[in-house]
Amino acid sequence: MGGEGEAKALRRDLVEALRWMNASGLNQGTSGNISIRHGTTMLISPSGVPYDQMEPEDVVEMPLEGEYGSFRARGDNVPSSEWRFHLDIMRQRPEVGAIVHTHSTYATALAICRREIPACHYMIAAAGGPTVRCAAYATFGTEELSKNVLAALEGRRCCLMANHGMLATGPNLRKAMWLAVELETLARQYCLTLTIGGPVVLPDDEIERVMERFEGYGPRPKAKAPARRRRKAG
Ligand code: 13P
Ligand code: ZN
Repeated sequence: MGGEGEAKALRRDLVEALRWMNASGLNQGTSGNISIRHGTTMLISPSGVPYDQMEPEDVVEMPLEGEYGSFRARGDNVPSSEWRFHLDIMRQRPEVGAIVHTHSTYATALAICRREIPACHYMIAAAGGPTVRCAAYATFGTEELSKNVLAALEGRRCCLMANHGMLATGPNLRKAMWLAVELETLARQYCLTLTIGGPVVLPDDEIERVMERFEGYGPRPKAKAPARRRRKAG
């Protein structure tokens, strides 16, 4: 599948992911947004459109290069108010294929306290390092917020955003959403430990070992072939 057909499928995936994000409790209302890279463009959720009314055709298209901030959209739709950080991340991080931004409760609670998440669980390795940083505060939708987010993402795949929420990236939407769920889980676990004495934090070299073991770890599509092969576990 190429070109237009692929774009159509990605628009559908984007709307489905927004709906799933709210149905699962990860997000609420229209306080989140998603983008997906498609060739030289970025597909991004329209601003403020309720997810249950959103159709794949409502997804907005922005060029990755060329005029900064220009877009193509149906009717009165405009790109998510956070298009700047979505676009800047896609431009600066070629490995990123999708970005999920949510105001999920526990990640946001930590972000309100402007606390980064330490290595309280080995799963933090999925974030790409021994901490999940909290980006400095700036008004939503601003260039300053985009700069702060990019700084917090240095060497990481996700971050918290002060007094706002969180974002997770991935090579594709499935992995970005998987990481968003992992980050919210980590935030919930960390918040709980803060009420019962605080966590024992794992050392950096242990997180490096976990990161090595994580090469190729993550959500996998279900195996298709019925044939079973004998292999050896690592
Ligand atoms: P949009 O509806 O414009 O995407 O805004 C939601 C949001 O999370 C702003 O930070
Ligand atoms: Zn937001």
